[in-house]
Amino acid sequence: MTDSATPLHDRHRAVLPDWLALYYRRPIEITHGEGRHVWDADGNRYLDFFGGILTTMTAHALPEVTKAVADQAARIVHSSTLYLNRPMVELAERIATLSGIPDARVFFTTSGTEANDAALLLATAHRGTNQVLAMRNSYHGRSFSTVSITGNRGWSPTSLSPLQRLYVHGGVRTRGPYAQLTDERFVDACVADLEDLLGHARAPAALIAEPVQGVGGFTSPPDGLYAAFREVLDRHGVLWISDEVQTGWGRTGDHFWGWQAHGRNGPPDLLTFAKGIGNGMSVGGVVARAEVMNSLDANSISTFGGSPITMAAGLANLSYLLDHDLQGNARRVGGLLIERLRAAAAGVPAVREVRGRGLMIGIELVRPGTEHADPEAASAVLEAAREGGLLIGKGGGHNTSTLRIAPPLTLTVAEAEEGAAVLEQALHAL
Ligand code: PMP
Repeated sequence: MTDSATPLHDRHRAVLPDWLALYYRRPIEITHGEGRHVWDADGNRYLDFFGGILTTMTAHALPEVTKAVADQAARIVHSSTLYLNRPMVELAERIATLSGIPDARVFFTTSGTEANDAALLLATAHRGTNQVLAMRNSYHGRSFSTVSITGNRGWSPTSLSPLQRLYVHGGVRTRGPYAQLTDERFVDACVADLEDLLGHARAPAALIAEPVQGVGGFTSPPDGLYAAFREVLDRHGVLWISDEVQTGWGRTGDHFWGWQAHGRNGPPDLLTFAKGIGNGMSVGGVVARAEVMNSLDANSISTFGGSPITMAAGLANLSYLLDHDLQGNARRVGGLLIERLRAAAAGVPAVREVRGRGLMIGIELVRPGTEHADPEAASAVLEAAREGGLLIGKGGGHNTSTLRIAPPLTLTVAEAEEGAAVLEQALHAL
């Protein structure tokens, strides 16, 4: 039996699922944060380059968001979607406009998983088929429907599925059968593969894709791939769902949404979001053209989705993000950070690639001289960075060997330099 005198890690292990993995040999209990820093229960301060998995998007304890949450909590926390909800309507209006999707409707959920689940429900109901295209190495959530379109074995605990899914090439530029091709030929090969697949498939409901694969290790296709896919999909009447759970709100610097790197043929039919918009409050959602959103012929509801308190947080957070041009900051400071990290990684034989855009940067580690993923090296760098006072994440393929760097979008140049210096040391200690 555990009691309150037992170390928290032991109590965690005794009562929570084994598959709920913790980072670090000695896991950290984070007790508070401010700006880009967090503190643990022993009073150690860390520079936070992971933001609780890209979710603390602006800053920890951002006064504008904290105040909005406190003010709303003092009025009413929950009322349900059965009643008019001003903050929900306001946030929906703003997201509908920002999405670029014409005649957009927004449905709020409490997580990215539920957002993608809703998108799959809409697309399959609208198209009258349960066949869905997804990308290899993708991650879209933990529910029964979303693990079944997750092309990353490490996060796919069952092969049972409510959907018939087919996996498409293209999410990973520098590995796989087309890796050696030029960007243009890579896109052509992926399009030809998609055409071929559609020639054999029933007419699928949708293609779902992350513009930059998050859990998969911040991998992406050449810009324009999804625009090229779109032309093929349109010919077959297949919808395009852009999973912007990690890439939305300007994190990639060059664009507000990840799909805009592939925007030649307009916005996706459906867009899903979560993580950063609530700055830690549970906000997710799906945006779709009215024709698609309204195609359900029965009632549907998310009891907590769009609750006034989470919507107040989302509104305050979004206003801060736009007023302070954090997309521009992600581009500028992210550009500097990736240059610093490229320099830091130069000459480290375990580094296969430094990639990414904006404040979404991956460093892929391999066993030196090979193409084999090296998860132990990734864990070692994570530990060393922690010792240096820096929190980062990891991800990538079946073997998690890519370091993931995704600080809050208010990151300063000085903090970028500081974090890069810690990572340089950690990489050279390998
Ligand atoms: N889609 C993507 C691209 C994600 O990265 C994640 C979470 N890592 C999800 C969906 C699922 O979001 P959540 O954990 O909020 O359910």
